[in-house]
Amino acid sequence: MDGATYPTTAPVLILLGPPGAGKGTQARMLEDKFGLVQLSTGDLLRAAVAAGTEAGQEAKAVMEAGGLVSDEIVIAILSDRMAEPDCAQGVILDGFPRTTHQAEALDAKLAEAGQRVSAAISLEVDPVRMVQRVAGRFTCGDCGEGYHDDFKWTKVPGVCDACGGKNMPRRADDNAQTAMSRLDAYQVQRAPLVVYYSSKNVLRPVDAMGSIGGIAASLADIVAQSLAKE
Ligand code: AMP
Repeated sequence: MDGATYPTTAPVLILLGPPGAGKGTQARMLEDKFGLVQLSTGDLLRAAVAAGTEAGQEAKAVMEAGGLVSDEIVIAILSDRMAEPDCAQGVILDGFPRTTHQAEALDAKLAEAGQRVSAAISLEVDPVRMVQRVAGRFTCGDCGEGYHDDFKWTKVPGVCDACGGKNMPRRADDNAQTAMSRLDAYQVQRAPLVVYYSSKNVLRPVDAMGSIGGIAASLADIVAQSLAKE
């Protein structure tokens, strides 16, 4: 991770989990509770695609096909974002790392500043139910409220309950076929990362098939313990 200056005292937490495991939701709750900054490499990449940057143009087709964007692009985008001042409070990484090379690049950068990953929280899920969750989700383009074809409909079809907006985009990669290929890719990626973070003694598995509140409580305990050690 060249170029970025990462603060020495900020905790770095990692959320590992497949698409649909609730990483985004849980990360935002931890952000509110602990004042950390959630960094989703998926969001950063989608912003780059929307902005039409060179990296975004290169990433677009790979993302739509459910593949992995090159380590080089992802690391550069994340590194730039982590160098921004608001990250001085600490970060929750959502969707990163996805490869051992990314994990090593992060550790090398943190080690330069005498820092290390505080905890790698692994959200443990049932793969079949994950595909169902991902394939049906959509979001209000105006306020960000999330919906789902099977679990949470809008009261009036096509109109957001929260803000009345009628712009309801679906992510191009949120369909059953792409969800399956993203899940397969995740299972392959997960194994070496679990080994990597176990060997560093920072892996914290959490059962992520329960209620959102129950999972949030488990995560909050882990984060509080990590912060106490900083
Ligand atoms: P996500 O929002 O985390 O599901 O990411 C959406 C897509 O962005 C993924 O399917 C990948 O194509 C790409 N992506 C996100 N994070 C990474 C990463 N750490 N490494 C490579 N590709 C990524």
